[in-house]
Amino acid sequence: MSWALMYHRVVPRRPDTAPYFARGTAVEPETFARQLDWLCARHRLGRPGESDSQRVLLTFDDGYRDIVDHVWPLCRARGVPFAIFPVAEHLADAAHPLWFDAYYDRVSRAAWADPDVARRALRAVDVSEPCPSDPDLRWWVRGPVKQRLHGAGSTRADLLERVSTALGVAADPCLPAKLYLDRAALRALVDGGVEVGGHGAGHRLHAGLPATELRAEIDAAAALLDAIGAPPGRSYCYPDGSVDPSARRAVGQRFERAFTVEPGPLTGVDRLLLPRFIARDRPPSDPGWCAATADPRFTRLP
Ligand SMILES: [Zn+2]
Repeated sequence: MSWALMYHRVVPRRPDTAPYFARGTAVEPETFARQLDWLCARHRLGRPGESDSQRVLLTFDDGYRDIVDHVWPLCRARGVPFAIFPVAEHLADAAHPLWFDAYYDRVSRAAWADPDVARRALRAVDVSEPCPSDPDLRWWVRGPVKQRLHGAGSTRADLLERVSTALGVAADPCLPAKLYLDRAALRALVDGGVEVGGHGAGHRLHAGLPATELRAEIDAAAALLDAIGAPPGRSYCYPDGSVDPSARRAVGQRFERAFTVEPGPLTGVDRLLLPRFIARDRPPSDPGWCAATADPRFTRLP
């Protein structure tokens, strides 16, 4: 029985990374190291394409710089392979960050000392719910404002500008360079044996996307992998796990396998709908660090 774990950021807890911890998509490097040691003591850690039926594989979405700052050194020291899924149009030289990274950046820098800020920001995006006391930004990162942006589609950039103005913070033009890997780093990772897979062009939800736009997302991901010399037998990762039969079919024409965000073991499932379990920022002594550990088939001591 094989299993895939899903990470996004591995990064120290700081004011600028607080939204990722509030969202549940960041793990501190020390905690990640303990999770690695726990996994290494119990499992064989493998690569997506390996046929071994008893393994755990680690995946990292969205191509953050954390990969070279923390993940690669910690994994290399333990001989642990892993796969990453950068977004083709959101590398270090991109004109704009991913919309949720832009939002988290604004929220982390908001002029919260001004008592009117929250009220103005809610008005700017027509959210009528009162903002609860929210010292760790959880409500801002998971609540109705984030949901409103998530569902905004073509009006999202405009809404984001409105909320940013109300929060009293401007866009940071250096944010992509601060957050994401560049092509040279991706090439070095490929040369070092790290699997780099596709994750769309602009992180657009694939389910329901018109055929030409869907094709553009997948082609851009494949072109990035060609440009950095990624070997064949490639993996894909649906942005936000969003997939329908058309997206599954289109991805299957270019990629060997594809990951979702649905939990479950990897064994005996569709190679284009591979499940993953999210890994949380908790020590491995806490069973809540990863829901896979609740499955009696998961814990396999050597
Ligand atoms: Zn993603």
